[in-house]
Amino acid sequence: MPDTVRVPNDLDSFWMPFTASRAFQENPRLINKADGVYYSTIDGKQLFDGTGGLWCCNAGHNHPRIVKAIQDQAAELDFVHSFGQGHPIAFEAAARVVDLAPGLDHVFFTNSGSEAVDTALKIALAYHMANGEGERRILVGREKAYHGINFGGLSVGGIGANKGQFGTLYPSAAHMRHTVLEENRFSRGQPDHGADLADDLQRLCDLHGGHAIAAVIVEPVSGAGGVFPPPKGYLQRLREICDAHGILLIFDEVITGFGRMGTPFAYEAFGVQPDLVTCAKGMTNATVPMGGVLTTSRVREVFRKAPSKVPDLFHGYTYSGHPLAAAACIATLDVYRDDKVFENARDLAEPWADMLHGLADLDAVIDVRSCGIIGAVQLAQQGAVGDAGRAAHAALWDEGLIARPVGDAMCMSPPLVLTQEHIDEIGATLRRVLGNG
Ligand code: PMP
Repeated sequence: MPDTVRVPNDLDSFWMPFTASRAFQENPRLINKADGVYYSTIDGKQLFDGTGGLWCCNAGHNHPRIVKAIQDQAAELDFVHSFGQGHPIAFEAAARVVDLAPGLDHVFFTNSGSEAVDTALKIALAYHMANGEGERRILVGREKAYHGINFGGLSVGGIGANKGQFGTLYPSAAHMRHTVLEENRFSRGQPDHGADLADDLQRLCDLHGGHAIAAVIVEPVSGAGGVFPPPKGYLQRLREICDAHGILLIFDEVITGFGRMGTPFAYEAFGVQPDLVTCAKGMTNATVPMGGVLTTSRVREVFRKAPSKVPDLFHGYTYSGHPLAAAACIATLDVYRDDKVFENARDLAEPWADMLHGLADLDAVIDVRSCGIIGAVQLAQQGAVGDAGRAAHAALWDEGLIARPVGDAMCMSPPLVLTQEHIDEIGATLRRVLGNG
């Protein structure tokens, strides 16, 4: 064991997020180093990071240019807030982000995806109020959706387990059905069936009146719920219904933003223009927490009606536009551009899908889904839901591959700098482990 390893003797003080703490303490998996697409554990085991951190380390780990930018910024200006003052680098980061986003011209900085979602929902409510349409209060989400864990995002989110402990949340949330259909099993890319499920939004308009709905939020590809690409035509249909009723369309691109579909944002890949986009994760390659809400000028302009001497939006975080995050963001975008990270994602999307769909012959595999450099292999249930997923996660870990179990779906979102050899390595490990099941 190297000298620098610090093994904690207290595994209880840290109340861990989304963790079965007793199970963790019985078998603590502790990672203390990373390099490129690999992690290593405190006992020296090397693991391929098949989840790209948690859908976020698009350029791989410890990229020297990003590391240096953060170090330099920390030495120059550690922190200043942006409430009525600011620092140049946050403005530079904002301009660089919106440069990647056709049709979106402004960004409100947050510190996480959850904060980005709640910020976007609040902007939507405030936008309608500023427009004299304060009666638009309904926020529409979708079953199986993950929009973070703050109050707004949880309200529009569609994963029952995440809501159950907390009771009633935002009272005017409504939900469309998910798009998970039996006939779409083993679809490659966007499935053929389910565009008409977007008409659930029309049904909500019929029920409540389109004038009562403020916004609809969807992940273009739902990720944390188990990886579900949108049916062909589904997002287009949502856009049409939003346009017909003056509803704002929010794409939650916390996972899909920054290259996972081979384009800077997924809305470009799917050819549908949203009014607001939430992002985080890949914005700084996950090195320093940062998120954001991108908006069109049309949305932003409405806020300029406010009197000039008061804030045009009564909202903000101490760390909005934090200098270290802004520096990390700029360096990350430099790396994405200079190392052609998004191009690599585009080039490898087909081989990635080939590898995943090549597992369809295994008895344990009952569905495969893929899109860009993201995918899920759905395992047959064995015992309770989640048992097969947990067992596969443990077995894959032992074989040196990290995947993310969501129920019995093994989700993967490796760094976008992976190579064909890495894809082959992942494929071989998956086949060896899942083939034994
Ligand atoms: N939205 C989506 C689509 C996400 O996938 C996530 C995180 N996986 C979030 C929001 C929340 O982001 P965070 O964990 O940074 O709060």
